[in-house]
Order: sequence, then C-alpha cells, then structure tokens
Amino acid sequence: QIFGEERKNSAGVNIEIASQWQPFSESVQAFADHQWQAGPIINGVALQAGERVFAVTAPYDRRESVGNVAFANAAQVNEAISIAADTYPQWSALPAAERAACLQRLADLLEENTGELVALCHREAGKTIQDGIDEIREAVDFCRFYANQAAEEFSQPKPVMGFDGTTRQLSYQGRGVFACISPWNFPLAIFLGQVSAALVAGNTVVAKPAEQTSLIAFRAIELMLEAGVPTGAIQLLPGTGAEVGAPLTSDPRIAGVAFTGSTETAQRINRSLAARDCEPVPFIAETGGQNAMLVDSTALPEQVVRDVVRSAFASAGQRCSALRVLFIQQDIADRVIGLIKGAMAELSVGRPELHSTDVGPVIDVTARDKLLTHIQSLKNQAKLVAQATIPDSCQHGDFVPPSAFEIPSIDVLENENFGPILHIVRFKANELDQVIDQINQTGFGLTMGVHSRNERTYSHIERRARVGNCYINRDQVGAVVGVQPFGGQGLSGTGPKAGGPHYLYRFTQDCVEA
Ligand code: NAD
Repeated sequence: QIFGEERKNSAGVNIEIASQWQPFSESVQAFADHQWQAGPIINGVALQAGERVFAVTAPYDRRESVGNVAFANAAQVNEAISIAADTYPQWSALPAAERAACLQRLADLLEENTGELVALCHREAGKTIQDGIDEIREAVDFCRFYANQAAEEFSQPKPVMGFDGTTRQLSYQGRGVFACISPWNFPLAIFLGQVSAALVAGNTVVAKPAEQTSLIAFRAIELMLEAGVPTGAIQLLPGTGAEVGAPLTSDPRIAGVAFTGSTETAQRINRSLAARDCEPVPFIAETGGQNAMLVDSTALPEQVVRDVVRSAFASAGQRCSALRVLFIQQDIADRVIGLIKGAMAELSVGRPELHSTDVGPVIDVTARDKLLTHIQSLKNQAKLVAQATIPDSCQHGDFVPPSAFEIPSIDVLENENFGPILHIVRFKANELDQVIDQINQTGFGLTMGVHSRNERTYSHIERRARVGNCYINRDQVGAVVGVQPFGGQGLSGTGPKAGGPHYLYRFTQDCVEA
C-alpha cells in the first residue's frame, strides 16, 4: 500500500471563476481596516506587554497600519519553557489519536477562518490572494497529514519479530519540549507544519515565528487552543532571532529544534546547540537554496518560459524553492531568452489584492534594499535581459522589479538572492556534466528544474544532481503536502522532508520493550 493512499488534500480554488474568487476578495475587504493585536501566549493567556511593541505595517503600503505585536522578554521566554516542560508528561501520555484529533479540529477551524487568514497573509505578509489561499490550504493539509499519520502509526506499538518467533514492542514517544522557529515567507503553513508535527508526535512546543509575521502566528495559536490543544502544550513567543530565538535554542530544557529559514541562521543555531552542556538533541533544519533549472535543446521553449516565469517570479521570488539560475543550452538560448523578455513585459507588478497582479511586494525594506543592491551590482558585471516596471501606485511599498540578467557563470553568485531576480547562463551541449558539477559545488541542494524531452538526459541529470527535489518538465515551486515531500540536502537542510512519511519520526524517540 502506498503511504497516504486514502488521504485527500484540501480543495482548490479556481481563480478564473468569479464565484470562487470573490468570497476571498470580499474577506480581504472586510478586514481592510482591521487592526490585529498580538503578543506572547503563555499558558493560554495572551499578553499585550513584553520587551517592546512592534508596529506592523503593510508591505505594499507602509502608511497602512495592520496592528501591533508585543515581543517577548527574557522572563517570558523562561516561563514559556518551564510551562511546556511541566506539561510534557501529561501531553505525551495522551493516546496519539487524541492528540491527532486536536489537529483535525484545528484544520477545520483554519478552513472556517480562511477569510480572515487570507486577509492576514495579504496585509501582514504582502501575499496575493491566490498565494494566501494556497497558504491556508497547505497549513490545513499539514495538520491533517500529520494527524492521520500519528493516529495510524503511533497509536499501537509495532511488533518486531525475533528469529525464534518471539516478538518485541517498538513504541514512539515525544522527546520533551521542542523549539519551533519559522520564517515569514510561509507564515502559516511552515509555522503550523512544524508546530503540528512536534505536538502530534508527543512533544510540547515553544514556537517562535518570524518577527515580520507574528500576527498570523498569533491567530493560528488562538485557533489551536480553541481546537483543544491544552494551554500548557503550546507557548508562543513573538520576537527577534537575537532576543528570543537565541536564548531559546541555548536553553538546556529544549529537547529538539525544528527550524526553517536561512542557511546562515541554521549554522548559528547548530553552533549554539553544540555549545550546550547537555545531551545532543535533534536539529531539523530546512534552509536556503541556489536553485537551478537546466534546459537542453530538445525542450519546448513555450513551456520552458511559462515554467521559468512562475518558478522565478511567483510570490515575488520569495519561495525557498524558487528558480535562481537558469542554464540554457546555447542552441536554443536566443529563442528562449527572447520569449522570457516577452513574458516579463507582460508581468503585472502591483498591489497584491488585485486579481491582475502577478508580482506583489517583498517582505520588508531590508529585503528590498538587499535585492536592489544585488541588482545594482549585477548591472556592472552582467547583461540585463529584462526588467518589469513598478507602477507609481506602488511607491509607498517595498517592491522590487522582477529582473533577469545574463551572467557568465553561477560562480558570480555568492549567496541566495531571495526575491524576483533571475540569473541566466548559457552552456554548450558537451558542458552538461560540468554545469551539474558547478551547481553541486555551490553546496546548496534544494530544488532543481529540468526541461528536456530526452529521457536519458533528464534521468542522468536527476542522478548526478545533489538536490532534494527535482522537477522534470514543469515548474519547480509549490510542493504539495504528502505528494511531493519537501526538503533539501547539504547547505539546504538536514531533512527529513516536510510533508513526507519520515518527518514525524524525527520528533520522536523510539523505545523497545524486549
Ligand atoms: P532567517 O534565517 O532570517 O529567520 C528564520 C527564523 O529564525 C526567524 O524566526 C528568525 O527570527 C529566527 N532567527 C534568527 N536568528 C536566530 C538565532 N540566532 N537563533 C534562533 N533563531 C533565530 O530566515 P527568513 O528571512 O525568515 O526566511 C527566509 C529564508 O528561509 C530563505 O533563506 C529561504 O530559502 C528559507 N526557507 C527555506 C525553506 C525550506 O523548506 N528549505 C522554506 C522557507 C524558507
């Protein structure tokens, strides 16, 4: 039997059908002036005071206030860990099916509150409505996927047969208090994916969302408590990495860390965990990439261009899986680049609530300035292929023009550029292996796209490339929970893959009754 064969993901929304699209558009309107208030949630109590208050404004227009968040102080970090540690014995002793039932209820509540959550994704994170809808669906799918798996696989001990016909019982338990640290680019799906996996596996959780998207995380935890997760089992600590994340990971009461974010932060956390004077603990890190797509001369240019534009510019390039470096075989490079120019001229950059918008803002002014600096530096050493324009209506937001540059080699790029910037490199037919080796040598290994109609070629690339997810003749973003388990290798992450059959096990310890 294939794992998850019986399971279904949440239903999609066809944005071309007005009756399906409109309810979401209306809910964004209904929450257009809403001001959300958030802060630490400790033992079920939402606090409005902490270290300091952070004023949240909309990425597409910084004059628009979205609400306020109280960032946690050191005493609250300490208290949150203590409560989670005290609650661990009761929570872990519950049958897995009971823990799973909480997540199933949470999934239902997320669906009931989709309108508000889409509005939050839009106003706090600058997501288009389509991206907001997809975000809520992914969060729902993670909850149900992990709930089903835990109920199925952790409810009963597994018999392990001896050679003499005797059996032993293998059972799975939580490990203690897990710290879950998440990024802003999937502020609900990744945040809840980590937290729900850790909880359903029997751990209690202290969650630290990205500072840019604390309002969404706060609303998610309110719904989690409403779904029946005990107040001691989940603690929320909004705040910065330095003030909240670092003290959390260095605390010896933390029995494991689930982290998604940049490679640099993962390395910092890894060092902090190694420096603790206590037992080694599991560290699940899902990090950045320098994702490439390889296009050979047998590829269909029109299909390539559609997939390149989506992979590089959807969600303003702020997906860890997004295409950063496109390698095109010389023989069809002029044709493909010509089509990319045409497609980019059609890209609509704008306010994310508009149906017509393809590319919205980036997350904040720091991200914008970093990307604009990169664009400026490329102008001196690379050839600008195309750049979309930002309309005047966007002047008060953090927008970056989708841009494509031809560069001489992938070696020009030192870091991941987390935004709508595509780099293009030409290669000759006999250089394919050299190109794959150069990509491998970056040390990153998250996603790769391949466009070729030659099965021998794409199978060869798939075998030789060291990446977590390889996509053949399609775009390379939007992994589906349970269908495309997602996670990288090398500098891109430790695994196991989120939304895959092995993820939950990393949050457990197994025990054999002999
Ligand atoms: P980031 O590393 O800046 O921050 C991620 C989280 O870590 C935030 O909550 C931050 O506050 C916290 N943090 C920062 N310093 C810390 C410290 N010293 N100790 C503990 N926590 C700390 O990343 P980001 O800008 O929020 O997210 C973008 C990055 O995430 C990109 O590199 C992207 O590729 C990556 N990402 C990877 C995946 C994946 O599945 N591989 C998915 C989404 C995003």
